[in-house]
Amino acid sequence: MNCVETANLTHVFSSGETAVNELNLSVEEGSIYGFLGPNGAGKTTTLKLLLGLLKKQRGEISIFGESIEADRVGILKRVGSIIESPSIYGHLTAVENLRVLQKIYQCPKQRIEEVLDLVDLRTTGSKKARNFSLGMKQRLATAIALLHSPRLLILDEPTNGLDPNGILEMRKLLRKLAHLEGITILISSHILAEIEKLVTHVGIINRGNMVFQGTLESLVEQQERSSYLRFSTSDDHRAAELLKSHKIEPIPNEKGLAIPLVEKETVARINEQLVINKIDVYEILKVRSDLESIFFDVINN
Ligand code: ATP
Repeated sequence: MNCVETANLTHVFSSGETAVNELNLSVEEGSIYGFLGPNGAGKTTTLKLLLGLLKKQRGEISIFGESIEADRVGILKRVGSIIESPSIYGHLTAVENLRVLQKIYQCPKQRIEEVLDLVDLRTTGSKKARNFSLGMKQRLATAIALLHSPRLLILDEPTNGLDPNGILEMRKLLRKLAHLEGITILISSHILAEIEKLVTHVGIINRGNMVFQGTLESLVEQQERSSYLRFSTSDDHRAAELLKSHKIEPIPNEKGLAIPLVEKETVARINEQLVINKIDVYEILKVRSDLESIFFDVINN
């Protein structure tokens, strides 16, 4: 079942800008879905629409298989979120912050200890939240979002501004939540590298349009398809002629000759032919586009 699904979701701001255009988002239950796109792509607008923070204009939204219109309050009770800056009282400690919300949500008092444990903030004692590091603030915000035991967590750029260690901690925490608590996570980011080790699924949005949606493996497969072999030799011109005579079409680049991926036996035969023809082979390399460049390719096509 899809935990979140939108059909032709569209949002036009009063300025006339279409921030979200006919978006079909599918977040599978139990997945960690990375919602990626450059600044201004429409990620926050989409997440706000899901959470009812912006009034839906056109299209459909269903969460946990139910239309958001049927029972918005009931559905959102099962969703935790951090959108834009987390709402934390700086003059209160972690426990005091959580106590305020525990009373509002009317969840069991022991849940405070549980969420503090989950986000690893149990030992902050009398320290006021305003003196927390950004990473700690982000973890407290996550604890707040988890207080009412949601089945779905929606996080808008939770790694924004964190240092590499903070990013690592956040990743560890989200992985733990997905595995131990079975929570579905929808997380937005504009940097693929920050979430590629975390997510199971990816949706890439650009100028309001979904330009890729699928498993992380399918994105990696796309990466594999854009990989190539590079030969560097003592005479690339002659090497290119030789390859062409073997029906392989090389593309010269500044570092040598690029050819499509071939079986390893073929690589050995090409190498043998080059050597027989007195062309020295300096390097044979498999060049893989990194996921980040695939991301830019998808956005720019
Ligand atoms: P970022 O990573 O910078 O937060 P984003 O992908 O979350 O970007 P949105 O904040 O959803 O993008 O913005 C999408 C587009 O809608 C942008 O061009 C933005 O300028 C525009 N936009 C967002 N909020 C408003 C608003 N309240 N009024 C008018 N235009 C808006």
